[in-house]
Amino acid sequence: MGRSPRRGEGQITTLRTWYIAVRRGSDYRTESFNGAPNGSGASGGGFRAASEAGSTVRAMDRRRFLLALAAGLAGAALGRGTTGPVDTRPAPSRALTPAAAVTPAGLPGLVPVPPPVGVVHGLPGEGSDLALTIDDGTSTEAVAAFATFAADSGVRLTFFPNGCYRSWTDNVAALRPLVDSGQVAFGNHTWSHPDLTTLGDREVAEEITRNQEFLRTTFGVRDSPFLRPPFGARDERIDRIAADLGHPTIAMWDGTLDDSRVLSAEELLAAARQWFTARTIVVGHANHPTVTTVYGDLLALIAERGLRTVTLADVWATSAQRLRGAVANGRVVTS
Ligand SMILES: [Zn+2]
Repeated sequence: MGRSPRRGEGQITTLRTWYIAVRRGSDYRTESFNGAPNGSGASGGGFRAASEAGSTVRAMDRRRFLLALAAGLAGAALGRGTTGPVDTRPAPSRALTPAAAVTPAGLPGLVPVPPPVGVVHGLPGEGSDLALTIDDGTSTEAVAAFATFAADSGVRLTFFPNGCYRSWTDNVAALRPLVDSGQVAFGNHTWSHPDLTTLGDREVAEEITRNQEFLRTTFGVRDSPFLRPPFGARDERIDRIAADLGHPTIAMWDGTLDDSRVLSAEELLAAARQWFTARTIVVGHANHPTVTTVYGDLLALIAERGLRTVTLADVWATSAQRLRGAVANGRVVTS
């Protein structure tokens, strides 16, 4: 599982130090830990947070996170949990690697390339990057917990919301700064999560464009190249309509938290241990609370494996996005 040369060893060492300190107990278990027993697999940290969404991330040691962030950590996290709308098909194969471009407000040492036309299942290239992608958002509390988790940990996330769920507008104040900084990116998952292959062309287009408008008005997302079809249900017709509407890249996944049902924390962590590997796109969901109780374990897993979280926009960016990123960074774009 991704034992290629690591980037940012210093960052990893910092987080590993943090993790070791956590495992040893040190001053970690203070206020809001719920006293869950140690020993849940790889993590065993006993720092599983309280399940209330809002307090979940407070349960993590902010000071240690800040230390890790100060060292340049670009963390990671993930999601899981969904009742009805669930993407169930993992898919193999790695994707293409287009030409180089200019780094937006992204990660040091990571230069996004133009988004490929077609289906992607994993991240291109080498290295230890992990893309955590969170879909749907049926739960306002789960979305809130992800926002807090991202803010506290520095984990980079890509959300694929359905605009029909109020969870996103409920949490816009917490999410918007993360979007503006580039730590959180968005793709289109349709407005109301239908199986697009059962709809006519016009209905498919309406589902896509209505969610585009939602992303634009809510988060200022103007031109995400990514569409993730609900349930992973797609064909050449869907791909073509998506491309015509500005989503040339069909963002599938090659790792899943398999959260089409309510899982126990142990089941969720087992899925994470299976799929948190280098250059994997992992799909999770902001639909059930389970994931919000194991963020610390997920961070520990990421640290143990020397992974770095990235958004899909860190990896693939359109010319317009790269231009804006370069302008935001005060640089001149030459390509
Ligand atoms: Zn979905």
